[in-house]
This record gives sequence, C-alpha cells and structure tokens, in this order.
Amino acid sequence: MNGFKLAPQSVFTFQFIFVIFMTALLPVQPLFAQKKSSKQKANTVQSTILLAENEKSLYRVVIPAAATVHELKAAKVLQEYVLQISGAVLPIIESTKDTSRYEIVLGQNERLDELGLNINFNELKEDGFLIKTDSLRLIIAGGTEKGTLYGVYTFLENYLGCRMYTSQVKRIPQQKRIALGKINDLQIPAIRFRDVFYKVAWDAEYTDWHKLDHNEKGDRTDWGMWVHTFNELVPPQIYYLEHPEYYSLVDGKRIPTQLCLTNSKVLELTIQNLRKKVAQNPAATYWSVSQNDNRNYCTCDQCRAIDEREGSPSGSIIHFVNQVAEQFPDKIISTLAYEYGRKAPKHLKPHENVNIMLCSIEVNRDKPIPDDATSEDFRRDVEEWGKIAKDIIVWDYVIQFNHLISPFPNLHVLQPNIAFFSRNGVSAMFEQGNKEVGGEFAELRSYLLSKLLWNPALNVDTLMNDFLQGYYGAAARPIRTYIDEMHAALRKSGANLRIFGSPNDAVTSYLTPALVKRYEQLFDEAEKAVAQNPELLERVRIAHLPLHYAVMEQAKKNFSGENGVFIKTSEGWRIRPDIRSRIDPFTDLCIRQGVTLIKEWSTTPEEYRSAMYRLFSQGMNEHLAYHKKVQFISPDPGKLPREATAMLTDGVRGSHDYAFNWLTFAGQNLEIIIDLEEAKPVKRIESAYHQYAFWLTILPKKVEYFVSMDGKNFEQVADIANTLPIDQYGGQQRDFIADFEPRPVRYIKIKAYTLGNTPEWHPGAGRPAVMRVDEIVVE
Ligand SMILES: [Zn+2]
Repeated sequence: MNGFKLAPQSVFTFQFIFVIFMTALLPVQPLFAQKKSSKQKANTVQSTILLAENEKSLYRVVIPAAATVHELKAAKVLQEYVLQISGAVLPIIESTKDTSRYEIVLGQNERLDELGLNINFNELKEDGFLIKTDSLRLIIAGGTEKGTLYGVYTFLENYLGCRMYTSQVKRIPQQKRIALGKINDLQIPAIRFRDVFYKVAWDAEYTDWHKLDHNEKGDRTDWGMWVHTFNELVPPQIYYLEHPEYYSLVDGKRIPTQLCLTNSKVLELTIQNLRKKVAQNPAATYWSVSQNDNRNYCTCDQCRAIDEREGSPSGSIIHFVNQVAEQFPDKIISTLAYEYGRKAPKHLKPHENVNIMLCSIEVNRDKPIPDDATSEDFRRDVEEWGKIAKDIIVWDYVIQFNHLISPFPNLHVLQPNIAFFSRNGVSAMFEQGNKEVGGEFAELRSYLLSKLLWNPALNVDTLMNDFLQGYYGAAARPIRTYIDEMHAALRKSGANLRIFGSPNDAVTSYLTPALVKRYEQLFDEAEKAVAQNPELLERVRIAHLPLHYAVMEQAKKNFSGENGVFIKTSEGWRIRPDIRSRIDPFTDLCIRQGVTLIKEWSTTPEEYRSAMYRLFSQGMNEHLAYHKKVQFISPDPGKLPREATAMLTDGVRGSHDYAFNWLTFAGQNLEIIIDLEEAKPVKRIESAYHQYAFWLTILPKKVEYFVSMDGKNFEQVADIANTLPIDQYGGQQRDFIADFEPRPVRYIKIKAYTLGNTPEWHPGAGRPAVMRVDEIVVE
C-alpha cells in the first residue's frame, strides 16, 4: 500500500472558474475515464458525432414510447445541460416519431430493436447502463430503475467535463462545439445499494448525479424499518410490566434491553406488528428486525442453548429472524450482525429473503481491512457471512464519532475497504459519515465514497485532485499537501486510528506539536492563495476547522503544560493567547456553516464555546487544596490509576471531554479526605462531576461535605442533592458547591453517592453507573 502521491504540478496549473457557469473551454476528452483514457484520446481526433456547434444541433433526444419517470428525467437532464454547455436546444421526441440519423436514443427504447443493437438489459439490472455510439447515433440505455439517468450523468461527467462537487458547486464547461469520438462504455455498479450518510449528499440532484440510494432527507425509501427495531416491534412500554418474560434474561433478571428470541409469543407479536407496518408502507422491500443498541441479550436456557450450539448469539437471532421471514416471502427481512451478534452462526443459514447488516464498528482505520493484523476477526466474520448469506449490507464508519470535527486521516483506507467488501459478496453499503452538517472534509469524503461505491477500481488520486482543484481552486495544492503529510505521519508512527479515538490520541502520531505548526503553515498558504475569492476562502477556512479543534482539545488536556490553555507569566497564570484567539472564530464559523453538533450526540457549537469560557473563567486555580494529599476511603486506591491521588487537586479541571482530567470508576461511592497540612480559613468547597448518561456516566445522587480540625471528628457543612435528570443523554458537567461562613479547617471529607446500577428503562440497564469526578476546589 503506497498511499497517495502528490499529483504532478501540471495537474494543478489547470485553471477553472468555480461558479455554476464556466467560461474556459474544456477538452471533450474525459478527465477521468480511467483505463480507457489513451484510447479515448485517439478517438477524439477522429470524432464521429458533432453534437452541437455555434448554439445549434441536428440532434434530438429520443425517448421510449412509454418512458419511465426516470427515463423522462434523464432526457430533461441531458437537454438542460447540453443547453447550458453549448447553447443548443435538443428537442425530446418519442420513439414512434420520424427517425433520423442524428439521434440520442435513451432508455429501454423500441428504436434499439430497429437498429439491431442487442443490448443485454438483464446484465444492467437496476442501475447499470451502456453509453455507446453507433454510426451517428449516441445511445444511453440503462437498467430498470435509474440506469438511464445514471448513464446521462456519467455522460455529462466523463464525456462533457461536467462536475458536481456539492449541491452548490458545479462545473459546467462552456463549449461552442461538442464533438464526440467513438464510445462504448458499459458500467455496472460493484455495490448494488449505495448509501453515503453525509448531509452534504442529501440534495436531490446530488443523489442522482452520484448514483446514491437515498432521498433528499437521507431516507431510504426502499427500507420500511431501518435498524435497532426490537423495541419498536415489541414495545416494552406496552408489554414489559405484564410480560417481563418477553425480554432479555440478564444475570437472572428479565430486563427490557433485548427480546427473548425463543419465546413464541414474542415471535407472534413481532409478526403481527410488522404486518401492520408493512400494510402502512407496502412499497418498501426491506424491513429490519434487529437487536437494540445495547449488549444485554437474552441468556435464558432456550436462547442460550441455540447460541451455544451455533457458537455465537447470532444463532438465536437468525433462528428468530428466519421464522419472521417465512411470513413475509415477498419482503426482505434485515437483521444486524453487530457487536455481540457479529460472528456468523456455525450451522444455521439465513433464509433467501433475509438480509444481513454487518457492522465494521470495531475495525482499525489506519490500515485497510485486508492488510490489518488486528482486523482478522472481522475479516473472518465478513467471509463467513459471505458464505451463508445471499444479501449482505455493510454498515461502515468513516469518521471520528466522538469528535465529528476532527482530523481523521483514513482517506487511504476507503478504497481498499470497499474493494474488500465487494470481493466478499457484499451487495449493499451504508457509509456512515456525519449526520450533522459539517465534519472534516465532508464534501471530499462524500464525493470519494460515492464514486468508489460505484466503482472501487477508480483511481483515488485522480478523483481527489480533481475534487480539490474544483472545490478549493488555487488552494488545492497546500490542502493536498496537508492531507498527504497527515496520512504519512500516521503511517510513519505506526499508531492505530479508531473511530472512537480523539485528537489527544494523535499527539504522538499525526498531530504532534511540530506537525500542527507545519499544518498551520499550509493553511496560511492555502488562505493566501485564495485571499481574493471570498467563496473559496470560506471553504478553506471550513477545511481548517478540524485543526483548530484539535489544537483546542489538546490544550485542554495539557492545561498548564506545553501548549496548554494556561501559561505562567510573572503575573501568574494567564490564558494562552493562541488558544483564546481560536474559540470565537471557530464557533462563529461552525454556526455560519450550519454545524449543529460537534460530538456525535451532543455539544452544539455554542455549548462548546461556553465550556471553553467556563475553563477560561475558572482559570488555573492554585486553591487551598492545590497539590495537597488525597486519602481514598472509597473506591480502593489500589484499583485506581497511579495518577488518581494527584488528579483531584492538581489545579486542572475536568473539561468538556470526559476522556481526560476526570477520575473515573464504576459502581462505588467516592469518599476521600484531604489534608490541608495546617488549619486555614475555609469558606467554600466544590467538586465537579461529568454526566454522559447514554454511555453510563451519571452524576452522583448527592454529595456531602464535612470539615474537621483533627482528622477524626468531622462536621457536615453541606448535603447537596443532584437535580439534573439522567434521561437526557447528552454530555453535561455539574459543580456541587458549598458556601459557608469562613471557619478554620485542616481536614476536608467528601462523599459522593453513586446511583448504583442504571435503572431498567436505561439503554445500559442493570449496569453500574460510572462516576467521573474532578478537581476538589477549596477556598
Ligand atoms: Zn430467551
């Protein structure tokens, strides 16, 4: 795997103007016709078809007598773009009208029979197409669904030089003369169902142009139910109280986390409720009957017997789903091979009309799946499902989910991974990017993924350079260098790249202080290159956001260390100007761009800003307990990390990201004593806790503060109950503050009470709540 190579300079010197209309004359020669390019070059010279010249054309678009809506649309799209490119109007006529030698024959057209062209439409299936010249005629004929429309968009791209980089940024070359050489271009997608889950890919024309299977809302209209549907099919709100036996037996207790898949009544209810849903949406083919998003599956004797026999909890899942599928022979029942159910069963096989949705959530992203030693289990699962299932959709992940706007150098694995899935019989792919607006290189990623799902053999370098030039103009080269250098640094470091990692994990690999400096230079260069063009400048600044974010996240972790938020001056601790200066432009641009969340389920740009301001205002605080010894009564200090005893009084507050500066443990109370070393007047004690309830981190039920002069007799000074709800799953912090009349104090005791196990309605029901505490501040 050689990674990317910087494109030759000549590619970058090509000049484009990036508005809806372009005035430069472009060659007819396709820019990325791949393997055929040399042949095409020869053909261009001896062109056979003069499609338009001086705003005139002899050609008409011939549609079938009973054209489908997609064929009709294909004709209109072709007409519209040829008009924009050349000024020539191509009339659209039905095939029953007069024949002419100057025709563009579209779709599954009667005219093709008259011409004796034996096109194998079976081979084209739904979306494939053939673009072909036949004497003076041009033929664009596609499969039963959008094949012809896709053929037209491909013709515009590969033969007329058009591009659609985003819904707002197109390139339409102006040409007085459109001449075509001989064409014979058959394309059938490698992946039958292609979904790129990026908000930028939801525009209706973008979806068609890039041959994607969702609509402008991101909905998959062929899917009646999508994923994690057990609770929707057998709702615990209705059944759990009276029939706990319908749900998972976990540690001897029935909890409504998953279904008991061997209970016959559960099967009956599932079929009955699914029938109602199918009746409401009969057009949808795919119906998901799949596990909820937690790991508490049923371990009752019957479920366990199947799972043991099959060597995986997927055994009871397939056993159950097959029975549902038998009742819906004309539908496809989809189920998840995810987390505990990812390994294929040993003996059972999914029925013909069962679709397996396989998830790559755990996989490393620094190496392609086929080359990565740590992906061995996953490769085995893909191959084993591939042997027993006819219909597999892979749910793949392409960004860093805890940090939606963060550098994530995984572009080099996109192509080999898609090619790997395609080789192993995967027929459908859902590429999960960002469900929110924005994200690192969202436009580029969406573009590359769309192209590669259609044809994983495309040249990624060519695609990427074409995109960067089209979208960033003169800033393309420094941005490409930024991408390449970051990817090279990751490779050189040998570090892993995970979708649940963070910019702090990258501080020794692709985001070292020296590299960050270098990246900043490249962005300076990029901004200078497009300084005269406000639109391009804004795009470059948006591309810069992830770097700002990474710098701020690293500063929060380093806090008062190198490149931290605070710097020590002769006048005490001050906010580092380099950090202070980033937060407002970062937040403002996020808001301007329409970014809704910065983390997968939480943190609006404004919340991010206010957390930074909270940090600034609290400052680097050398309070009375600063660097004082902390004695742990609970939890057992032997089971805590070595730095735990220093962490709570190091002057550094746990911040927005739960991954650092928080002392973390599960299922136990916090009980500690701090010795101030001498009696001092104290008037305030505070301690802060982090809540991220979806991931089981939950605030204490209450916090008590006690003071003492001798370390033996403690007097309570505060008892503060938690008032924040735990059923809102976003991230929050809360300070538990006790203010009292100043009094001399030497010892301080803090008790924070854990919630214990999470309640039954919680997605992680029955598991111990995690407590995250940081900085005991005494003043
Ligand atoms: Zn069971």
